[in-house]
Amino acid sequence: MRVFRVHLEELQAGPVTVTGSAAHHLGQVLRSRPGQKVIAFDGKGNEAEGTVTEAAPGRVTLELGEVRAGQAEASVAVTVAVALLKGDKLRTVVRQGTELGAAAFRPFVSRHAELRELSPSRLERLRRVAAEAARQSGRAVIPEVHAAVSVEALAADLSGSAVIYADPLAEATLGEVRRAAGGDVTVLTGPEGGFSETEVALFHEHGFTGVWLGTRILRAETAPPALLAALLLPEAL
Ligand code: SAH
Repeated sequence: MRVFRVHLEELQAGPVTVTGSAAHHLGQVLRSRPGQKVIAFDGKGNEAEGTVTEAAPGRVTLELGEVRAGQAEASVAVTVAVALLKGDKLRTVVRQGTELGAAAFRPFVSRHAELRELSPSRLERLRRVAAEAARQSGRAVIPEVHAAVSVEALAADLSGSAVIYADPLAEATLGEVRRAAGGDVTVLTGPEGGFSETEVALFHEHGFTGVWLGTRILRAETAPPALLAALLLPEAL
């Protein structure tokens, strides 16, 4: 039997009544019946196995087992700081990034960014994309999508932590940078127009390391998943 995953804000062992969009998804979309196996997750790293005991329109009752830590998290936290991009591109970054194991997303406005702001409704949509991608990929953590800030504010906030920025003009290879960073790291990627010279100077002031991703220029929405794959998939090798 396929096991359905459902996101619940609070997890506790025992009977739980699910309403709202989670009940709609389990009941109407997936047509769960009593006996259906589920895994409920709280988006903060915990999950619990359970069984559907009752399914009525808009209201599904589950019997949940013990709450435990989810098993799908990477051993290092890789946060993705991505320049604001137009259209569906940020959604692609958040969906693919969540599947690949990103810890969080920090969108920022830079000189050549394609947008000057991230509206509350777009931010809300990106958060829903992260929740859905976490559910589909079996993660118990929904990576946080932060509100957008300026590149200066982001750099000041990250100062002193391990940060690498991707730039076709940088010289260090990803292998070198990965060995040096070792643990948790934030990766910064730019918009189609790249980072300005002033921005690169700002990154150096804060001690960030530039990384070159090879001879081919990647699109702005390709660079973040490529970096995540390079940093996190080796755990699976
Ligand atoms: N014309 C721009 C290219 C931007 S590509 C420039 O010269 O910078 C969009 C973003 O993807 C870049 O800002 C960078 O963060 C990343 N990127 C794409 N290809 C890359 C490469 N080969 N090496 C390093 N970073 C790359």
